[in-house]
Amino acid sequence: MPSSVFNALHQASHSTESLLQEALLGALKNKVAIISSFGADSAVLLSLVSQIDRDVPVLFLQTGKHFEETLDYRHTLADHLGLRNVQDITPAPSEIQARDPEGQLCYFDVDACCALRKVEPLDKALIPYQGWITGRKRNQASTRASMPMVEPQPNNRFRINPLAQWNHDMLESYIEHHHLPRHPLSTMGYPSIGCAPCTTAVAEGEDPRSGRWAGKGKVECGIHLAH
Ligand code: SF4
Repeated sequence: MPSSVFNALHQASHSTESLLQEALLGALKNKVAIISSFGADSAVLLSLVSQIDRDVPVLFLQTGKHFEETLDYRHTLADHLGLRNVQDITPAPSEIQARDPEGQLCYFDVDACCALRKVEPLDKALIPYQGWITGRKRNQASTRASMPMVEPQPNNRFRINPLAQWNHDMLESYIEHHHLPRHPLSTMGYPSIGCAPCTTAVAEGEDPRSGRWAGKGKVECGIHLAH
């Protein structure tokens, strides 16, 4: 039987704004976090969140492999939006020492590297929360094509995707209308931005995510598959 939390979230999922309101101030108040990569279109979700609650925890996976531009943008965007609770989630130093002491794992085993630097640290960081909000969109990858806005997880927990139905034009129009700062690389051929060793520029008209793990047969880092 669906829980009362699920029912409340589901009923609010007729629009992005009402779902965010319900998650942040209603059914999951003080029990929810935002996951953000501070990538090319992260500004949209964070802007919508900042209009409701600037103190909600925003979890940023600090893999140690980001572009400098991403680390700068993390601060620029958070300051611009007045977000007061951005948290760096890092892998345990002992795990890095044991499994990737030279920092080269990403060049020969991307799944193991993502597990070490993203999946496991995020799993641990999410333990205190009943829900987490992502900026994923259905049109980003075939693995996301039928993604619901509210995804029940084990133990009455919830993954929430308020932007599931947003497309490129909607995102661009929101960014323009709200004069949001852009990730510096987003105007240099990087429509989807992850860690530097695993992100390349793409040509105009190419699949925006084709620059992620190009040639490695991988489309997701795993943080959204593991739960
Ligand atoms: S995206 Fe690349 S560098 Fe980043 S954690 Fe995954 S494999 Fe490692």
